[in-house]
Amino acid sequence: MTQQATTHIATIEGEYNLSNYDEIRENFDWSDAKELLSAAKTGKINAAYETIDRHVAEGYGDKIALHYMNEDEKRSYTFKEVKDQTDHYARILKEHGVTKGDRVFVFLPKTPECYIAILAAIKVGAIAGPLFEAFMEEAVRDRINDCAGTLLITDQELVKRVPKDDIPSLETILFVEDIEKEPLQPVDGDKYVEWVDWEDGLIIHYTSGSTGKPKGVLHAHRAAQHHIVTGKWVLDIKDDDVYWCTSHPGWVTGSVYGLFAPLLNRATVVIQGGRFSAENWYSLIEELGVTIWYSAPTAFRMLLSKGDLYKQFDLSSVRHVLSVGEPLNPEVIQWAWKSLNVRIHDTWWMTETGGHLIVNLPAEKIKPGSMGRPFPGVQVGILDEEGNELPRGEVGQLAVRTPWPGLMKEIWGNKDKFKSYFQYEGWYISGDLALQDEEGYVFFQGRNDDMINSAGERIGPFEVESKLIEHPAVEEAGVIGKPDELRGELVKAFITLRAGYEQSDELLEEIRLYVRKNLSAHAAPREIEVMDELPKTKISGKILRRQLKALEIERNNKVKN
Ligand code: ATP
Ligand code: MG
Repeated sequence: MTQQATTHIATIEGEYNLSNYDEIRENFDWSDAKELLSAAKTGKINAAYETIDRHVAEGYGDKIALHYMNEDEKRSYTFKEVKDQTDHYARILKEHGVTKGDRVFVFLPKTPECYIAILAAIKVGAIAGPLFEAFMEEAVRDRINDCAGTLLITDQELVKRVPKDDIPSLETILFVEDIEKEPLQPVDGDKYVEWVDWEDGLIIHYTSGSTGKPKGVLHAHRAAQHHIVTGKWVLDIKDDDVYWCTSHPGWVTGSVYGLFAPLLNRATVVIQGGRFSAENWYSLIEELGVTIWYSAPTAFRMLLSKGDLYKQFDLSSVRHVLSVGEPLNPEVIQWAWKSLNVRIHDTWWMTETGGHLIVNLPAEKIKPGSMGRPFPGVQVGILDEEGNELPRGEVGQLAVRTPWPGLMKEIWGNKDKFKSYFQYEGWYISGDLALQDEEGYVFFQGRNDDMINSAGERIGPFEVESKLIEHPAVEEAGVIGKPDELRGELVKAFITLRAGYEQSDELLEEIRLYVRKNLSAHAAPREIEVMDELPKTKISGKILRRQLKALEIERNNKVKN
């Protein structure tokens, strides 16, 4: 696995160059991943060193590591400059007594300083705790308290949302404004690097909270093996790539695939500040010549709803596009293929898995509606309630053979929760439902809790949602099982309408019949409700079926009382 083929892809399903990827599938071994890190030679590991300093030591100090773009601001940093900056932050952290294993939180907008602060914490051996910039007081408090963070790096603006008095463990708050004022004292070599064990804590990420209280997932430095190898084969990073992941490092995608994986592979990373706007996104791609772009279905759906806007921009630099976080509707894949002339490569993984597990490799066939195939070296199982493997084509619990390098080390302070992922010997249980076809492609069917059981039939909400948004009037859809005395549950859809459509009984009936005709009678929603907006998790933008369901149950109880 040394050479990477140039890929040529003519359609979503055919005419791609498979040669080199067949080799990876056959010969890959996780120990190959380790070989990509300098630690394989030196025996010394620190993921921050591997991400930045190593490239400087290897002679790439002048290469651009970061491009930062905000409305009226544009800055770039070379790898050497990022090294100097992380040393600067690391020195200050050490002056404040930070030692190995301390939880150092970073609460900053998406700026270079945010990335640098995270790397500096890791460099000195602390466990980095990145927080999403839109968190309000309660979210900040709960997370820092959960793992007893001792130091926080923030700025004068965001500190207003840090309720210090309610966070007893927090000893120190540092402001980037002050850190930036101190004179830089560049050092050669690894003066501030704390060499650690592969099993030592690297970063703690809180899950998105789609199914309940966010869990504090602790990752170890060994995860760098997973990050570097998936960056190479799944993100397909080559030396002259300009790489943009739209997620904030406060989410696992924003750190693993926004920071570690691309920089471990020496890509130039784009950091985009400010809020989502289709115009700004397209123009950023054009201006910086983005070649690889990693985003989420909700963002792609928003771009889709802007119609022909893309025609005003030159997006020809983009050669590889990826998606994660929630089901990628076939409609969206077709739109991107027809209008943007790109294939969107879905990837499946979770905060807990620490890296990609099911992917669409760049030169393989994409089956719209499927998340792809297990990454080489990953073995997926579809299990029944007793933990037995089901035959291909049957829906069951999506499980993965343990271990792999990115797998979480623990759920902070919750051993029972951690154990619950491993209730069947040798398997990690994801909590998602899926089926795998004869060719190994995995099809997401919903979260275990989301599955609808109507008159004895199991219905996955995602399939119904995808069919709904194929209808020209439907912008987004969230489908749940509404409690029903006769059927147990009935299929209920919450939808938003596209601009230009007015709600009417005829329209809703037409939409219902569309699903009935094109998907199946038993899955067609018996009820459709139009909303102005669907409830979603913050920025990761996942549709909160849990909340829709809670709404229905509440209404139901009101009727009863
Ligand atoms: P919480 O665990 O707090 O309830 P969450 O599961 O949404 O929140 P994440 O770890 O951010 O937190 O998301 C992982 C989940 O996202 C997966 O279990 C799956 O349900 C969903 N997901 C991720 N990628 C995909 C994908 N490509 N297709 C469908 N679903 C996906
Ligand atoms: Mg989860």
